[in-house]
Amino acid sequence: MPTASAVTLTLDEVHALATRCLTVNGCDADNARAVADTITAAERDICASHGLFRLPGYIASLRSGKVNGAAKPRVEELAPAVLRVAGDGGFAPLALQVGRAPLAARARSQGIAALALNDIHHFAALWAEVEPLASDGLVAFAFTAAFPYVTAAGGRRPIFGTNPMAFGFPRPGKPPMVFDQASSALARGEIMIAARDGHSVPPGTGIDAGGNDTTDPNAILDGGAQSPFGGYKGASIALMVELLVGPLIGDNLSFEAKEADNDDGGPPRGGELMLAIDPSRFGDPDGWAAHAEALFERMLEEEGVRLPGARRHVNRTRTPIDGVRVPEPLHAKIVALCAV
Ligand code: NDP
Repeated sequence: MPTASAVTLTLDEVHALATRCLTVNGCDADNARAVADTITAAERDICASHGLFRLPGYIASLRSGKVNGAAKPRVEELAPAVLRVAGDGGFAPLALQVGRAPLAARARSQGIAALALNDIHHFAALWAEVEPLASDGLVAFAFTAAFPYVTAAGGRRPIFGTNPMAFGFPRPGKPPMVFDQASSALARGEIMIAARDGHSVPPGTGIDAGGNDTTDPNAILDGGAQSPFGGYKGASIALMVELLVGPLIGDNLSFEAKEADNDDGGPPRGGELMLAIDPSRFGDPDGWAAHAEALFERMLEEEGVRLPGARRHVNRTRTPIDGVRVPEPLHAKIVALCAV
């Protein structure tokens, strides 16, 4: 299958295009900027499944009225180390931006703090959410759910979201170590891109409507289900994430998000949990960073080993110079969405 031709955009052009499209379709300036920041960061690091690729979904939810494009997220205190952002039915990026500094301040004053984000619509990659906290010297976690796409261990019915979790660990003077992974064998966006581009997906990605293993992305997306990564171990991570961002913080489970959804193709309505830890408030305030470096150095002595996040860091040195390649059909679709 031939690869579609691409349009090369600078990162500023990506941001401007996303901002224009969101604004024309009903976002206020703050919400449009926050979502455009998120999309541009994904394009900058070449995480294509969470960059401009997501913009038509964001726009669908503005047009359907599911998402409040003028949301005013508010920070509330639930306990000294527990904060909440009431998301006002908006997209996640502005709620996350509003909650970040208060979360960091509470982590420093209490040693550890949690931020629950409620009533938001999440469609993005989580690394961009833990990275600023870890760059600021805090250990950080983020968890969110999705729609029910992934089977439980031993099951055939999709019940869990692809439920990503991200973890960031600071490295003073260097970019933090950040990993961010879906609890499905493959992120849904990657399956959608494989379907779009006519590629198969690796064995173990999912099952078809009849419960049979398949490498056909369309069979997984149309009535099939995704498999958790690593069998029952990944299923337990997905289960944990459901419990953290549903019952714990008082928001939707993935299947509840689906039942309440209008099927506009945009993000689910639900919650997110973030945790931040100040390493200087634990047992080795002066030595933790060097101790962690000893591990990283030992790992990297071995050929073929890299740290999670290293691929993105290489990419972000290139894209400001080379720009990013956006498939021509996607670019044309976004340009059309700018003309309401
Ligand atoms: P990947 O499997 O591509 O990568 C997972 C992690 O492993 C990344 O941190 C990656 O770092 C790291 N990694 C990959 N290869 C290696 C290696 N050889 N050595 C060391 N580390 C490695 O991600 P997923 O497909 O699981 O998830 C993709 C994205 O989808 C995530 O950003 C996630 O947040 C997002 N997502 C969002 C959802 C939502 O509803 N909002 C739902 C589900 C997923 P690197 O980037 O450097 O390769």
